[in-house]
Amino acid sequence: MSDAREELAAELNAAFARLTPAERLAAMVERVAAPVVFTTSLGIEDQMLTHLIFKAGLPIKVVTLDTGRLFPEAYALWRQTEERYGRRIKAKYPNAEALEELVDDQGIDGFYFAPEFRKACCGVRKVEPLGRALKGAGGWITGLRRDQSANRETLDFVSFDAARGLLKANPLFDWTREDIRLFTLDNAVPVNPLHERGFLSIGCAPCTRALKPGEPERAGRWWWEEETRKECGLHVDDAGRLARTHDGRPAHGDAAFEAIPPRAP
Ligand code: SF4
Repeated sequence: MSDAREELAAELNAAFARLTPAERLAAMVERVAAPVVFTTSLGIEDQMLTHLIFKAGLPIKVVTLDTGRLFPEAYALWRQTEERYGRRIKAKYPNAEALEELVDDQGIDGFYFAPEFRKACCGVRKVEPLGRALKGAGGWITGLRRDQSANRETLDFVSFDAARGLLKANPLFDWTREDIRLFTLDNAVPVNPLHERGFLSIGCAPCTRALKPGEPERAGRWWWEEETRKECGLHVDDAGRLARTHDGRPAHGDAAFEAIPPRAP
């Protein structure tokens, strides 16, 4: 017998197609018994959802994951948004001990040097705090759009996230970026000024760059990773490239420096 939450997800998924984004948010609150949480990255889609939630006074907890590496513009927007709506955006932070261990191990910008370092950083700064943000929630609102990237085309409006045991809803799933941009303009929704400077998808500052003409929307995120994969096996050299141990994996902690051959006198 299928889980009642799976059935509810399917029902809401079908219903969402006929509803506006505001109605979709209200439907989540009405139909999902446990608390509903919206995790905002402060990007333009999420700012539209924040506007709809705060304007309607919906009992949805709005939470952001402060990785500690966000753009200054994101922090300014966070404050500006709270002042505009008179509501608090809650924050989740990385576990302090895990963060200390991560930086001790891979350095402050270790994510540039190996995909596994990047994943470890995202794990400590984003994934683990997200788990705490969603603890006890029955519904999770996100700002995902169908046309953001190829791997998002297979998503639905609403699905049952079995791993987290909650309903995941994407109320802007069928909206285009341009639809959202016009909505934010018409409704004076505060948005990150970096969007106008070529940063369409904005994450942590060291891991996001502006797009070049014609690039897909998420090309500016972790743009170096393909190149890093190609660099597999390199040792840190005088140019600061990655040190790897004898088995080809990135060297951790002080071993990364021990792997650097002594400089010629
Ligand atoms: S986006 Fe970059 S800085 Fe942010 S958590 Fe991931 S690897 Fe770390």
